[in-house]
Amino acid sequence: MQTTRALTLVMKLSKLCNLRCTYCYEWNHLSDQSRMPVEVARRVLRAAASEHVARSARGAHHTQSFVTRVVLHGGEPLILPLPYLEEIVRTIHSAFEDLEVDVGVQTNLYHVDSAILSFLVRHRVGIGVSFDVLPGARKSLTGHATEEVVRRNIALVRSQDVPLGAITVLGRHTLNGIVQAHDFFARERMSWRVLPLKRGPRERPDGFSISYAEAATSMSSLYDHWIASGAPMRLDPLAEWSEVAIRSILGLKTRRYDRAVDGEIALLVETDGRVYCDMDAHDEHASVSDFSNPAAEALIDADAFARSAARERTVVASRCAACDLREACAGWPILSGRAVEGDDPCPVAPLVIGHIRSRLLEWGFSREELWTLLRQLRARSDALEAVPS
Ligand code: SF4
Repeated sequence: MQTTRALTLVMKLSKLCNLRCTYCYEWNHLSDQSRMPVEVARRVLRAAASEHVARSARGAHHTQSFVTRVVLHGGEPLILPLPYLEEIVRTIHSAFEDLEVDVGVQTNLYHVDSAILSFLVRHRVGIGVSFDVLPGARKSLTGHATEEVVRRNIALVRSQDVPLGAITVLGRHTLNGIVQAHDFFARERMSWRVLPLKRGPRERPDGFSISYAEAATSMSSLYDHWIASGAPMRLDPLAEWSEVAIRSILGLKTRRYDRAVDGEIALLVETDGRVYCDMDAHDEHASVSDFSNPAAEALIDADAFARSAARERTVVASRCAACDLREACAGWPILSGRAVEGDDPCPVAPLVIGHIRSRLLEWGFSREELWTLLRQLRARSDALEAVPS
């Protein structure tokens, strides 16, 4: 389960990219040279620091302190000029001063040289690498496969102890080979997230989309393989979904996450300075603030946020009320789905959670064992995440 004691700020520094992954949702902007002006980033980050202080004060009774996570995102952030990246990182630390802030970068890791390595190490920037292990979709500008180069670069950054996790897209190219990808990340002991391919712009090349049923079948097989391998690394969303399955068997109710009460957990900052709640990231008219305007002050406009939370409540009510898992599920699957209007807002998770549930029952775990599993699931995963290579 995620925590509301953290806010993730995804900053789209630029859409420019050195790859042409055929499923990319930024497909129409990958040659766009424009960059988030440092002054815009500074205003956003100052507002984020104020939000951090306000959220910390509201949750002062919590034992866990509040943390802001800033993710430098693109396009490909690591092809931007290093002096620019250095200035952005300095701006983050100067805005947050002694507040708890983590800095990470979401990268394709196709281009890494000694200067970039030194930047990552010096500023303790953690890496999320987008890597599918299997070829087919992630192509270079000249249309060549990129996997061998990225494998080498993963080894390179791991040799410097840079924290590293990975995201893989589940699409036509990975559907039948997802266990091979699992074995790669298991060997590397890297935390791993698998994302079923979402809808994207009409202009991007087709051929990688899969049906929800195919995604659910593949994720279910992946769960079986992960467990049979001894769950060697953190694997989301299967770790999160396993908790829901166990709670559902034990008849445990969980408190549902309500953004209007609990606060936002993730914001996306567009290159021009407009800020979106994560669930509205596909809707350009739904920003909650706009820092292209020098007069903007609040990170989240209260009225715009209330409208976003109301939209979410409608989506959740329309879907979760009819779901057998509603008592055991806090609602993360639907909230992370960025539902497109007219589409099922939670098409895969209930099927896979149902599979996990059946497996756990079939394996004959006692209630005590399931309780232990529920506790261990997170503790064990967290411990493994910290294991160096
Ligand atoms: S529809 Fe999705 S988010 Fe809602 S209760 Fe079911 S699994 Fe959870």
